[in-house]
Amino acid sequence: MKDRASTDRPLAAPLLAGAAMAAIAVFGLVKLAARADLPPQHLARTIVALDGAAVRGPSDIRFVLSRKAIGDPVEIRFAPGGPGPDVVNDVVVPFYARRSFPLPLVLLGGVSFLAGFAVLLFRPRDRRARIFYWLSVCFGATVVIGGGTYGLQGRTVHLLPGLLFNIAYPLTLAFLVRFAWSYGPSRPSRRLALFWAVPAGLGVAMASLFLAAELLPSLEAYRLREVLKHGLRIYVVAMGVYALAEFGRALKTTPSEEDRVEIRGYLVALALGLGPFLAFNQLPLALSGRPLLPEEFSLVFFLMVPIFMTMAILQFRLLRVNIVFHRGHVYAILTFFTLGLFLLLVEGLKLAFPRATATGNVVLTMAAAVLIAVLLSPGRRRIQDAVDQLFFRQAYDYRRALQAFKAAAPSVVEAGRLADLFAKTLAGTLRVSRTGLLLDGGEGRTGELDERAAAALAGLPRDAVRPWARAAAVRDARDLDLSRDEALAAAGADLVLPLPPAAGAPSGLVVVGPKSSGHRLTGEDIDFAAALAGELAVNLGRIRIQEEMIYEKASREKTEELVRLKTEFIASVSHELRTPMTSLRGLSDLLRSGKVDDPAKRERLLGLMAGECGRLGRFLTNVLDYGRIEAGARAYDLRPTDLAVVVREVVDLVRESQAEGEARVRLDAPAGPVMVRADADAVRQALLNLIDNALKYSPDGADVVVRLAAGPEAATLAVEDRGIGLEPGDRERIFEPFVRCEGAAARAPSGVGLGLRIVRHIMDAHGGRAEVESEPGRGSVFRLVFSGGPAERATSR
Ligand code: ADP
Repeated sequence: MKDRASTDRPLAAPLLAGAAMAAIAVFGLVKLAARADLPPQHLARTIVALDGAAVRGPSDIRFVLSRKAIGDPVEIRFAPGGPGPDVVNDVVVPFYARRSFPLPLVLLGGVSFLAGFAVLLFRPRDRRARIFYWLSVCFGATVVIGGGTYGLQGRTVHLLPGLLFNIAYPLTLAFLVRFAWSYGPSRPSRRLALFWAVPAGLGVAMASLFLAAELLPSLEAYRLREVLKHGLRIYVVAMGVYALAEFGRALKTTPSEEDRVEIRGYLVALALGLGPFLAFNQLPLALSGRPLLPEEFSLVFFLMVPIFMTMAILQFRLLRVNIVFHRGHVYAILTFFTLGLFLLLVEGLKLAFPRATATGNVVLTMAAAVLIAVLLSPGRRRIQDAVDQLFFRQAYDYRRALQAFKAAAPSVVEAGRLADLFAKTLAGTLRVSRTGLLLDGGEGRTGELDERAAAALAGLPRDAVRPWARAAAVRDARDLDLSRDEALAAAGADLVLPLPPAAGAPSGLVVVGPKSSGHRLTGEDIDFAAALAGELAVNLGRIRIQEEMIYEKASREKTEELVRLKTEFIASVSHELRTPMTSLRGLSDLLRSGKVDDPAKRERLLGLMAGECGRLGRFLTNVLDYGRIEAGARAYDLRPTDLAVVVREVVDLVRESQAEGEARVRLDAPAGPVMVRADADAVRQALLNLIDNALKYSPDGADVVVRLAAGPEAATLAVEDRGIGLEPGDRERIFEPFVRCEGAAARAPSGVGLGLRIVRHIMDAHGGRAEVESEPGRGSVFRLVFSGGPAERATSR
């Protein structure tokens, strides 16, 4: 930002130069009052020569007159064939005797000079203010002198205003562009020479021709200058448009909000000042040769330019005049232009249909209105959008951000996610260094809000209507509560908003930190934060209500599941009791009938009976144990135990109770003792449950292997089968109570789903773990791992 840099160049030279220009302009005014004209009665006829020199039109006449003083004699020759004599001798009269003196121009020039001086004096070190100064004095000189041809009238000094005009006019536009540049990214200085060469060249050429015309004197030189003036007009229009475009570009790209407010000021100034002049005077003049408003009247609007520009450039640092350009103002200006366009169309249509009658005129007017409507209506939204983007970039961005949040929030189902989205939107749009959310009722704080900050804000009432702000951090304190400055400072916040109430939403605070740019928060910023907070509250409420509904549904399902489990449990228990009872009755009947004589066979049947009784007993133990486990009353008596002994007992017991053809239980255990700290009864129960399952869920006759292994770290007891196996999703689930897998019920109708639950509980109590490794259709390995080295287990208490 090289243009923003301060400069130490002395003020005296530019001030002196400006003063000199002002003095020449005033001198020019005096000379302008002495401007000569032909007596009005001669103007109706075509003049072909003045004082013997041939003239071709008003411009030539102006040149001849510029060399005369009021009261000088003049010889006028008319085109032959007129009503009077062809040659008349008369004296020249004052030009402004009949016309009004161009006072609007004088006023405008004066205001421009004043604006330039004011800005330079108030901001002497600002480079941008210097550019503005030169722009103002060049513009002022140009409009005051107004191009009126100042003649020699005998003295060379009278040429000064004309000379100044010729040079200041092109320079004005160059300074305007330079000024617009000062708001955008800096330009390469290489082409700067060319940039100045054009207006300087134009100025010097025009001034030289002017001097040549007046001093030689030479009508040809004067005519040449008139031609060059057309070139100058093109340059003026091109640079004017370019400057506007540059201002527009700067408005879009500059990161500084204060710059933006200034630029908006210039754009409004140019629109208000130049707009009417172009729309009502120049454009109709160019199109139909007839202005809608006289030039003098249109020029009054020019006054807006220096006034608004000065206000814009000075407002922040000095006058703190807060001109806020509301959308309405801009739309009003647009309407204004629409009106101009309408009048222009009417003129155009009249031109196209010159013989229109009175009724025809009405038709034309209506046609113009319809045409305007047709022309503007499709583009209306676009125009509005473009205007919004240009002038209300920020409001536009805010509206977009709010809409985006509104669109995205309803699909967020989690309060935390929503808070993140909120923080991202808020911080990203306002460009603040931090944001935070302090929600009451368990949700806690989010964002960059530490505990200290939360504590500092704890005392703020959540039902407050106005947001709190720090006085130094906001540009406009309307509708804000500035009384909690200290709390906000302690929390590192510039602005804190109470979360607006919404159905289901918790109360809370939205915390907004300082802007990254260091600028203060505007009313627009705060309105945006408030609107966003409103959306947040509504959606937080929605999420809370949704969560409650989901919770309710889940608990209802849980209850239904419990009822179902209970029914199933009762059915399973009856079944579980009936099967061994039936087989016991059958066996005892068989023994009592005396039909079994073979003692070995009797022994075998008694073994089976014992086995059934054992299974029945184990089932009852499981059910009772489950009750104890749930009540937290199951106790274990851990003491050094030889696992090898326990395992052998269990395997023997199972083998005894097995009928012919049932799966064979094999044992693979070390010969010596495997000592662990354990509750022998509990281990027996766990192992029996596993073997029961292995038998139940394997095809008849398939082997079941019980393996005991003692490692240095842990003793492992494994039960392997080649049964139906388990789906991966079931491997953890089966340790929960009442869970039975789908295939299990088909394979073995008995079972209530308590065995593994008890196994896990037992292993947890032993500080070990129960695991399963399984593949569907291939079998399973259930492992009981007793952690800690067996030796250590045995000796430690
Ligand atoms: P139950 O055997 O009484 O149904 P468990 O808690 O002992 O209850 O077992 C729970 C479920 O785990 C069983 O219903 C069965 O689906 C599955 N399961 C247990 N052991 C095995 C195994 N060895 N092979 C296949 N599935 C098994």
